[in-house]
Amino acid sequence: MSKGARTVDIAGNLARVRERIARAAQRVARPPQEIRLVAVSKLVEAERVQEAVAAGVSDIGENYVQEAAAKRAEVREGARWHLVGHLQQNKAGKAVTIFDMIQTVDSPRLAKAIGKRAEAAGRTMAVLLQVNTSGEESKFGAAPEQVEGLLEAVQGVSGLRAEGLMTIGRWDPDPERARPEFRLLAELARRLEDRTGVEMRWLSMGMSHDFEVAIQEGANLVRIGTGIFGPRPG
Ligand SMILES: *Cc1c(COP(=O)(O)O)cnc(C)c1O
Repeated sequence: MSKGARTVDIAGNLARVRERIARAAQRVARPPQEIRLVAVSKLVEAERVQEAVAAGVSDIGENYVQEAAAKRAEVREGARWHLVGHLQQNKAGKAVTIFDMIQTVDSPRLAKAIGKRAEAAGRTMAVLLQVNTSGEESKFGAAPEQVEGLLEAVQGVSGLRAEGLMTIGRWDPDPERARPEFRLLAELARRLEDRTGVEMRWLSMGMSHDFEVAIQEGANLVRIGTGIFGPRPG
């Protein structure tokens, strides 16, 4: 364990993040309780994750299937685990046994792979559709104009339940730059509900540097890593 990791005040960071969430919500007259915090713990040791759970974290986000499998075994029961990183189809079987929600479904093929493995495991997997709202080529996610087709495909797969949308804002030192993307995701969710009748319960958007803007645009799942656990190694 690095010396740096020991000195991070996880409970203190968490309290500060929660306060900022509450203030951002109040600014747009939203009840802070409707915003759920996902603590993203990629590359963070299980011990630190346990510390966050002890401090009240109910939802944990991980990017890698193997890493999450090892950690989930070590962290006390009770938290919900979210996959927030890209999923390779050949890991779908393992993913459905570890995660409570997969936030990164971006193709009908992946949806089918997850659904098949979820059914085989006797469960229904909650999923979010990942949308590439910034149009950046480096990003995973369905194009905005493909999302309705993707939702229809997901609805046609048994073993899956579509519960909303997820996006990653463009990285910019000025978080205002990501506002149009967050606004687009919220608009897409409203449009999909109108056109398909499927409830888009969750809007997963906003990370450590831009969650306040995301909350102003309607986020109710925010994914925060470094703001809680400190800088990642490497
Ligand atoms: C790493 C990661 C986060 C957390 O990022 P921070 O900037 O550390 O808050 C959130 N969402 C996804 C998809 C990530 O990969």
